[in-house]
Amino acid sequence: MTAIPGSLDATSMRTHLCGRIGQAEAGNAVRVCGWVAKRREHGEHLAFVDVRDHTGIVQCVIPGTVDVRSEYVIAVEGVVRPRPEGTVNPDLPTGEVEIGDCTVEILGIAEPPPFVVDDRVEVDESIRLKNRFVDLRRPRMQENLRLRAKVNASLRASMDRQGFVEVETPLLWAPTPEGAREFVVPSRLHHGSFYVLPQSPQLAKQLLMVAGFDRYFQIARCMRDEDLRADRQFEFSQLDVEASFVSQEDVLAFVSEAVLSAAEVATGERPDPIPHITWAEAIDRYGTDKPDLRFGMELVDLSAVFDGTEVKAFAAPCVKAMVIEGGADLGRSKLDKLTDRAKALGAKGLAWFRVTEGGGEGSTPGLDSPLDRFLSESERAGLLSATTAAVGDLVLVVADEYRLACTVLGQLRVDIGGRPVSEGPFRYLWVVDFPMFDGVDGDANPIAAHHPFTMPHPDDLDRLESDPASVRSQAYDLVLNGWELGSGSVRIHRGDIQSRVFAVLGISEEEAESRFGFLLGAFRFGAPPHAGFAVGIDRLVAVFAGEESIREVIAFPKTQSGSDPMTGAPKPLAAGLLAEVGLRPAPAKD
Ligand code: ASP
Repeated sequence: MTAIPGSLDATSMRTHLCGRIGQAEAGNAVRVCGWVAKRREHGEHLAFVDVRDHTGIVQCVIPGTVDVRSEYVIAVEGVVRPRPEGTVNPDLPTGEVEIGDCTVEILGIAEPPPFVVDDRVEVDESIRLKNRFVDLRRPRMQENLRLRAKVNASLRASMDRQGFVEVETPLLWAPTPEGAREFVVPSRLHHGSFYVLPQSPQLAKQLLMVAGFDRYFQIARCMRDEDLRADRQFEFSQLDVEASFVSQEDVLAFVSEAVLSAAEVATGERPDPIPHITWAEAIDRYGTDKPDLRFGMELVDLSAVFDGTEVKAFAAPCVKAMVIEGGADLGRSKLDKLTDRAKALGAKGLAWFRVTEGGGEGSTPGLDSPLDRFLSESERAGLLSATTAAVGDLVLVVADEYRLACTVLGQLRVDIGGRPVSEGPFRYLWVVDFPMFDGVDGDANPIAAHHPFTMPHPDDLDRLESDPASVRSQAYDLVLNGWELGSGSVRIHRGDIQSRVFAVLGISEEEAESRFGFLLGAFRFGAPPHAGFAVGIDRLVAVFAGEESIREVIAFPKTQSGSDPMTGAPKPLAAGLLAEVGLRPAPAKD
C-alpha cells in the first residue's frame, strides 16, 4: 500500500479517501474506509460494493461473495485499475476506475437505515432530524457543514489579520438589553435565583473595551427564546465584534473585510466593496430597511404631482408609486389580490394604472384605470413623467402617511419582484443612520430601535428630549439580498448621554442600576469610545450554500416547534432534580 506522502487523507486505517481515487492511482494498492452505499452480486464469483465517505463513492470489486449490507462500516483493500471498457460511469468522479481484487474487513454492522443516504431522495424533515446522524452523511449536508467550517475559519483568520483578539464570554450570564425573551437557568447554589443564557455578548464585549482589549471578536453562541422560523433558531452563532477608539466607518471596514473574505472563500469570488445607503433613503427608495438590490422597482414620490388634487383617494400626506415593467397585462383578479394585500398591510387602498398606447401616432401614452377619469391632464402627464412608465407597464399607487405608503409598496415590491434569498448574484448593502427610537411602548415611552447603549447621531443630540422621533442613531445594518445579516452601533460611553437616553426611554435610575449597574459602574472607571457589530453566521452560510432555511446549515437544529426529535428535548425533569435547583414541578402545559 502506498499512502500519499504528507497527505491528510491517510490515517493508520486507510491510504486514501474514496472520492479521491482516480486514474493517477491506477496500479497502486490502496485501502479505503467508509459506509456501504450499494452492493451487487454477480453470481458466486464476483461482488461489487460501492464504498462512501465524505469525499464520494468508489466501486470495489470483490472476488467471491461478501456479507455486507447498506451502511455497514467497512475497510476495503485492493489495487486500483481502470474500469473495463463500456463500464465507465461518467456521473461519478471516480467513475473511470475501480478497486479490484478486494478484501473486505467489517468494522461495524448497521441496521437498515431509516432512509437512503442520497440527496435525490426527499425525506420528511422530522424523520431527518430524528436520524440526523444518518441525514448528515448525505453529500448536501456534508457540503453545508464543511462550508460552514470554512466560513468560520475565514472569518477568524480575517479578524486575526486585522488585529482582533478572540475572547470567550460566559454562557451563564445576567439579563442583557436586546429585548428578546431569555432562557433562564436555575441556580443550584442559590435557590430562587437564576442565570440567563445570553442573547448576545453585548455587555460582556463592552466591558472588554473598558478592560483595554481594544479589538475583540468571538464566534459567539447566542440564545433567544423566540418563535422559530426558517431563518430563526433558539440558538444561533454570530461573528461578534467590538473595537475601541473607532468610528462607525472603522467598524464597517472591519466587518466588510471579514464578510467579503468569507464570501470569497465560499463562492470563489470576492464581491465588490459594499455600498452604503442611509435608513431614510432605504425607506424612501425601497420601502424597507433591508432592500434587496437584485432588482429595481424603486419607489417614486408623486406627492408633488398630486399636491392639491381633486382625486379624493390621493388627498393624503404622501402619494407613492411603483412601476411594474410589463405589468399592464395583469388581469382584474390579480389586481384585486394586490389591493387586498395592500389593505392587509395597512393601506386604505391601492390605485393602479395600466399604461396604454395613446390616441394618435406619436401621441403620449394613455392610462387605463378606474381612477383615470378623475385625473387632470397635468396629473396624468406628471404621473407618466415622474414614474417614467412606458406602454405595457403597470403603475401602483398608495396614498397615505409617508412611512405607511413606503412600507406597503416596499412589501408589494418584494411580493412581486422577490426571489429566494440564496439566489445569486449576492448584493450586500450597509444601511446606516437608523432612527434612535422605533415606536412607543404601552407607557408612551419611545422604544430603542437597536439597544439602549446606542449613541445618538451627534447632529441630533440636542433634539433627544424635545423630538425623539426625529433623532437618528449611529446604528447600522448589513443586508444581503433583502436579508438582515447583522447589526451594530457606536455605543454611548459617556454617563451624561446614557442618563439622558435612559430618561427618554423611561428607564429610571434605579432600574438602570439594577439591570445594567455592572456596566454603568465599569464605565465610571474609564470607558473608551467604542463601537461594534454582530454578523449572523447561520444566515450567511445558508445564503452561500443556496439554502432557504438555516436548519440546513446547522448540525443539530430544533424543529419549528422548538423540539429535538433525536434527543427528545425539551423533556420533563425528575422531581428530585428540580428540588435540587430549588424548583417544584408545575402541572404540564398542553
Ligand atoms: N448585540 C447586537 C446583536 O446581537 C449587535 C451589536 O450591537 O453588536 O444584535
